[in-house]
Amino acid sequence: MQADLICVGSELLTGLVENSNTGFLARRLWGAGIPLRESSVVADNEEAIRTALNRGLEMSDLVILTGGLGPTDDDITREAVAAILGLPLVLNRGWLDRMEELFTGRGLKMPDNNRKQAYVIEGAILLENRRGTAPGLIIRWKEKLIILLPGPPYEMQAMFEEAVLPVILNFNKSNPVTVKTLKCIGMGESMLEEKIKALDNRDLPSLSYVARGYEVDLQIKGMGNPGSISQSIENAERILRAELGDYIFGSDEDTLAGLVAELLTGKGLTLALAESCSGGLLSDTITDIPGSSKFYRGGIIAYSRKAKINLLVIKEEMLEREGEVSEATAGAMAEGVRALFGADYGIGITGIAGPESDASQGPVGLVFVAVAYSGGSECKKLQLGGGRRSIKERAAQFALDLLRRKLIGG
Ligand code: ATP
Ligand code: MG
Repeated sequence: MQADLICVGSELLTGLVENSNTGFLARRLWGAGIPLRESSVVADNEEAIRTALNRGLEMSDLVILTGGLGPTDDDITREAVAAILGLPLVLNRGWLDRMEELFTGRGLKMPDNNRKQAYVIEGAILLENRRGTAPGLIIRWKEKLIILLPGPPYEMQAMFEEAVLPVILNFNKSNPVTVKTLKCIGMGESMLEEKIKALDNRDLPSLSYVARGYEVDLQIKGMGNPGSISQSIENAERILRAELGDYIFGSDEDTLAGLVAELLTGKGLTLALAESCSGGLLSDTITDIPGSSKFYRGGIIAYSRKAKINLLVIKEEMLEREGEVSEATAGAMAEGVRALFGADYGIGITGIAGPESDASQGPVGLVFVAVAYSGGSECKKLQLGGGRRSIKERAAQFALDLLRRKLIGG
């Protein structure tokens, strides 16, 4: 089974809004064993939607459309799909009442143009929207499934996870592809592949590698009878885990930051961050995790020399002698912030994100990451390639991995 995706929205074609729905849906569908065949972006225009929808229905079993379910006149996806399929729109009283309550609850009168969001294509299942007024729709069309989802990612994603995924998994029962992703860090994808190729691979089904900065997703894929496939995937997972050990940090939807958060929370430990070249990126990543207040004490963006001296209590002579981008400074930042916040672990990140380098400090991409803890500290030197942003991202990823390895006792 395969799927087509159509993102509807003229704003996506002007570049005013970046299309992020494709990435999310492609990943989630792929993970559910339903690869995307084609993804297109079209304007809020019936002819454009017709061309894309007809093509999708011709080629795929499942067609998902996002966007254009809003209350304004330019949102026409619902009406266009009804016209293309030759089906009428019928009022769904329940959703109309819900919208009216939503507005009265906020002390407002529902604008008339919201009424159109309560009209559903005849025979469709209405998917409630907990985060907005545009409901989703699921339509059985001949042997196919057509799904309309709201455009705003925050609304679309929740609806997809809660209401859509179970339906399409059920729809796909006959011929599922099973995918298990092992998340790796600390070894590049080519080295990973070399290591795995050296194994006796009779028991390994098809594998693919997706690199994201320092992380590599190792995907094990099988198709056919679910029972025997899951057996062979489990078997492959056992072989790979035995070989790769703690290079594997998680699986499927796990994230490195989420995993570190779990480890810290589980052990009742706390963390503080001193960031220079990463500019608060690691703090941002950590605070994206719900419940991070349980373990995250706080951070300092010690970008300038003064900040390092005044806030992190690092000796000026030491900075003079060793340089701001050095092992000693990263270590002192980690120790300093750990003491400042009274945390169990402190992390220090200092480096040169470029694009220009201060010759005395070293080459662009030189980064030192340190972790300090009761009774010691550890520092790693990195030489990263890529632009400013990717250097920041990889420095933050690396720091998380260094901490993870400490936490699992490596
Ligand atoms: P609502 O009633 O909540 O507005 P809608 O289905 O009408 O739902 P649209 O009007 O198409 O949604 O889009 C609203 C906003 O959602 C857009 O301005 C944009 O910010 C965001 N959005 C829509 N499609 C995408 C997409 N593919 N990727 C990222 N953001 C999107
Ligand atoms: Mg729109």
